Amino acid sequence: MLNRRQFLSAAAAAATFVHVPRTFAAQTTRYDVIIRGGRVIDPSVRLDGIRDIAISQGRIAAVDAAITGEAAETIDARGKLVVPGLIDIHTHTARYAEGPALVLRDGVTGWIDAGSQGADHIAETVAVARSSPQPGRVLINIGRGGILPEGDTMDLARANVSAARDAIAKNREFIVGVKARLSENVAGANDYEVLRRAQEVASSFGIPLMIHMGQTVSPLPRLFALLKRGDIVTHMFAPPPNSIVDESGRVLPEVLAARRRGVWFDLGNGQNGHIRWDTVGTIMKAGFWPDTFSTDWNTNSPSTGVVDFPNCMSKLLGYGMTISDAIACATLNPARTFPLFSDRGTLNVGAPADVALLELREGNFDFLDNYKNTITGRQRLFPSGTVLGGKRIPRA
Ligand SMILES: [Zn+2]
Repeated sequence: MLNRRQFLSAAAAAATFVHVPRTFAAQTTRYDVIIRGGRVIDPSVRLDGIRDIAISQGRIAAVDAAITGEAAETIDARGKLVVPGLIDIHTHTARYAEGPALVLRDGVTGWIDAGSQGADHIAETVAVARSSPQPGRVLINIGRGGILPEGDTMDLARANVSAARDAIAKNREFIVGVKARLSENVAGANDYEVLRRAQEVASSFGIPLMIHMGQTVSPLPRLFALLKRGDIVTHMFAPPPNSIVDESGRVLPEVLAARRRGVWFDLGNGQNGHIRWDTVGTIMKAGFWPDTFSTDWNTNSPSTGVVDFPNCMSKLLGYGMTISDAIACATLNPARTFPLFSDRGTLNVGAPADVALLELREGNFDFLDNYKNTITGRQRLFPSGTVLGGKRIPRA
């Protein structure tokens, strides 16, 4: 016996069948691109399985086990991982005219330049962001001269609130946050006051502040008290002095409190002073895992321990992270940090068709920290292709 609802839906189905049988049978769906047969990992919908992905007009049109229909271009992804386009929230991409195109080849379909320039030369990084093929934006260094060999804010007068405010007001679309670099060799004993001024600027525009932690003069609890919801702590694995754990390996209560109120914790691989395997081991063991991965990318990254974003994503697999966790830290989570990425970091139907193809290789892989120590991992991700807004990017 059918109940009333079942009867009505059966009747509706029958009616559909009666009225449109011929057109239905003859119709072949046409897509712009179909990515076939890859292992699709999309943490935004907890998906990990072999799927096809169809793309139309720059957006994800379907994700299914076997998509019928034709496409102008088919990408064979068998044996590869197919994940949302990678979002790297700590790079120096905008230092270089060719930066955006270089990281795009690694699967990076969204980037943030974290404070390469301050108020005095912000136009240079904004120009690179403006012409970037993928969404790219900049954080303004609170030090008006940007990154300086002698230390961005060693001279406290360089942390100029009104200069930073004017620069942001003139470039609201492209400056999406403020960066404060706080290590002793960057800010000296000025760290607290530099951070206070940076937060004064960021708060007045309601935008995030990213701090570069590690080897500060001031203890972290004093600095973290100034962080608000949505701010980002980069270089979270920096070794002592002033790491996020104490000598006995406990995460500082002020660090846990910061996470509870919505402060993000970011890897920030980089090259000097930011990551040391023993500190990583302690922090991972304490269960304080990163929200986001990032490279701190520069044009020399291919020849340093950074290599590329997929390499940085592979480094914590030996500390208990799954492939899916690692992908979430490079897609779903960074998409939540800046509004420009709010519809990205996902392969859900309707999302912009930004896709990274990766190869997951098994073997023995050496991963370098910033102190010439290596660990050996059993798996490593390699870049293998990029689709941006539904267009395949050639790998040069
Ligand atoms: Zn950096």
